[in-house]
Amino acid sequence: MHGLMMDQPLLISSILRHAELYHSDGEIVSRTVEGPIHRDTYGGLARRARQLANALTGLGVGMGDRVATIAWNGYRHLEAYYAISGIGAVCHTINPRLFPQQIAYIVNHAEDRYVLLDLTFLPLMEALADHLKGVRGFVVMADRASIPDTKLRDVIAYEDLINSHSDRLEWPEFDERTASSLCYTSGTTGNPKGVLYSHRSTVIHSLSSVQPDVMNLSARDAVLPVVPMFHVNAWGLPYSVPLVGSKLVFPGPKMDGASVYELLETEKVTFSAGVPTVWLGLLNHVASVGGRFTTLNRTVIGGSAAPPAMIDTFRDTYGVDVLHAWGMTEMSPLGTVNTLKQKHLDLPAEARNRVRLSQGRVIYGVQARITDDDNRELPRDGMAFGHLQVRGPWIASEYFKDGKTPAFGEDGWFDTGDVATLDADGFMQITDRSKDVIKSGGEWISSIDLENICMAHPAVAEAAAIGVQHPKWDERPLLVVVRKAGSTATREEILAFFEGKVAKWWMPDDVVFTDELPHTATGKLLKTKIRETYRDHRLPTA
Ligand code: ADP
Repeated sequence: MHGLMMDQPLLISSILRHAELYHSDGEIVSRTVEGPIHRDTYGGLARRARQLANALTGLGVGMGDRVATIAWNGYRHLEAYYAISGIGAVCHTINPRLFPQQIAYIVNHAEDRYVLLDLTFLPLMEALADHLKGVRGFVVMADRASIPDTKLRDVIAYEDLINSHSDRLEWPEFDERTASSLCYTSGTTGNPKGVLYSHRSTVIHSLSSVQPDVMNLSARDAVLPVVPMFHVNAWGLPYSVPLVGSKLVFPGPKMDGASVYELLETEKVTFSAGVPTVWLGLLNHVASVGGRFTTLNRTVIGGSAAPPAMIDTFRDTYGVDVLHAWGMTEMSPLGTVNTLKQKHLDLPAEARNRVRLSQGRVIYGVQARITDDDNRELPRDGMAFGHLQVRGPWIASEYFKDGKTPAFGEDGWFDTGDVATLDADGFMQITDRSKDVIKSGGEWISSIDLENICMAHPAVAEAAAIGVQHPKWDERPLLVVVRKAGSTATREEILAFFEGKVAKWWMPDDVVFTDELPHTATGKLLKTKIRETYRDHRLPTA
């Protein structure tokens, strides 16, 4: 027997409709590519999204067609999110930091019909256009006057396009399982893979992400997503923020410490989200100007492990609560968020702070388990570590046009490629990515743990721990360290810092210094490259 409740599809357009009706004057503030700060409201967003939807329909875009964006976080990009998905087309967000050949690959693989681009990416598209045969036109997200002379074919000015269309439109109703957006993983090995989200998965993920023990978002917040809208839909914030009607502040192309800090302060931002590398830049800047955060009270850090030293600095020096979170492109992305339970509230501060360091608790909507090499489930005791597997309504079931890779298990669980512990409260701690773990004498050493300790050294700006070949132990840890400007810390000083913090056999065998570490297109340490660079490094212990 079915329940007798209205069968309304969960569509992304329902979020915009609600925001327009009840948060019409809610502000959307953007630093533009052109320079000035732009101010709009949810009312304006809804009107312009309808104009763009009508315009896209006029260009022949229909249900299931892919329309790409290659753009920073800004109001026009947000309009594109809602307009494209709203008419049943698929919003394919492209990460501009990928290699140009990878961008060409994914545009062709996705069969994008149109590309909407920020002015910044005009030269990139000029260089690639000849390889993008299926693209019918390039919509430059600016007014005609701001677009320089270009040799790009089939250029359309965004403002001309939308201004020639009415803002009258009833968002169409269709199956909630319809594809809504597409995001490619960065593909550190092999070609990038497309994750195809649906309206249903997006709306459910948004409903979950605003919960108190997740991001705790409300109409009283002002939210600045530093995480780009081309990185897993900015962790869902372009949907979850309008859903609750918080003020929305976009940093545009400027993600450096000084620019982000200025916006946080002038726009009275209360909540932000981004990867650790961005926060390194912000904290360095704030320290250098002797600043403080007057309104910011919490920030989500994820994408790679947030170093404990960073979590402590935010909390102890600036009074900003860090929500350490873990997720993946394949997971929309949220899987765990670190928030306390009631039983932790009376713990001494030090013990409580220790609880806050892990990647956090599994949120409702995600099922998680850890398994051994034979796919047998391991206990949730906070000690055993194994392959972290997940399933749930906002987790990919296969890749777009690439089907089920071995990570999609036959038993319906997706193997994340991470190695983790899980405890009875749902707290999950990532030991490592399975590819990055250092295998010494048949035992595992967590590269993340070594990096976290090293990053707490006052002279260290950034550190990577990798395994290099060892004749006796198979692999042993090598630390590759970027010193802070002006520091002269030695190999011996760095190693001494590990004394008493790790088991003897976890001690790195060597330390080398470098000026810069390579990062992936989503801001993570590019371990494959670092391993390649130091493959022939001779350890003093070898
Ligand atoms: P990519 O950046 O490779 O396109 P994702 O952003 O989907 O892909 O990366 C997901 C991976 O990032 C996870 O599987 C995990 O290894 C890593 N990751 C994400 N958040 C954290 C975290 N808080 N701590 C440690 N690792 C993390």
